[in-house]
Amino acid sequence: MPLAIVHHPAFCADMPEGHRFPMNKFRRVAEQLVADGLVAPGGFHVPRPAPAAWAALAHERAYVDQVFSADVPRAVAREIGLPMTEAVAFRARCATAGTVLTATLAMERGIACNTAGGSHHARRAHGAGFCVFNDVAVAIRLGLSVGAIRRALVIDLDVHQGDGTADILTGDPAVFTLSVHARRNYPVRKRASTLDIALEDATGDVAYLAMLAETLPGILSRFRPDIVFYNAGVDPHEEDRLGRLSLSDAGLEARDRYVIGAVRRLGIPLAGVIGGGYLDDIDRLARRHTILHRVAAEFV
Ligand SMILES: [Zn+2]
Repeated sequence: MPLAIVHHPAFCADMPEGHRFPMNKFRRVAEQLVADGLVAPGGFHVPRPAPAAWAALAHERAYVDQVFSADVPRAVAREIGLPMTEAVAFRARCATAGTVLTATLAMERGIACNTAGGSHHARRAHGAGFCVFNDVAVAIRLGLSVGAIRRALVIDLDVHQGDGTADILTGDPAVFTLSVHARRNYPVRKRASTLDIALEDATGDVAYLAMLAETLPGILSRFRPDIVFYNAGVDPHEEDRLGRLSLSDAGLEARDRYVIGAVRRLGIPLAGVIGGGYLDDIDRLARRHTILHRVAAEFV
């Protein structure tokens, strides 16, 4: 059976010309996965857009309603950094449902990956930093509420701190949030995860992988989650516009293989989301995001 991969055409919403958010990467990721044979044409698992009730499991209802009706206050829209149109709202609903579907598939098959997700700056009160709804937080809250899971671990290796995820989930004994990020980076005001590891600029592959090997096995064996949500952001890469950790493509691949291997060896289901990545060369960026899917396919 091939790796279960989730995609919806709406992941790539229409954006104003020249906007700094690389929206087209979501289309290219899907195209490259088909071109590389990881997914048969038409073989993606397609989510249905999330209802407001799902988003409201992680966000204040007033904000959810503002997003759904494309009526987000200007100051909030500015903090999100995306035009809060109907297309962007629909995209957020599909991406959120995509991570829910990814988690469901992971519980059934052991591993599954989204081609979006990892909107970890979206906090309870509202979105921020290109993130509208916190898809991982919604998926965890939904899984807990229906009794599909009792404990969830978030392994967030995007180069930015998972402040929104921490805001929504930290303090819930059913959830462990791990954020590994660059100390000197957005967001300026970080919120405490269960465990935060703030790395210095130019950490590099070797030190990064050593840090993971020292950290992850203990968390997995002590917390024993029913599912892991893995944010495989590629913005720690040395050429990323917003990254600072100087990882290489080989380093990202080794990172993904280490994380997925450590989780799967214990028989724990893993739901992968792509997280951040910022590069003007969309083909190159999409290729980098698909490292996650290619490595995950080794563990099916
Ligand atoms: Zn990021």
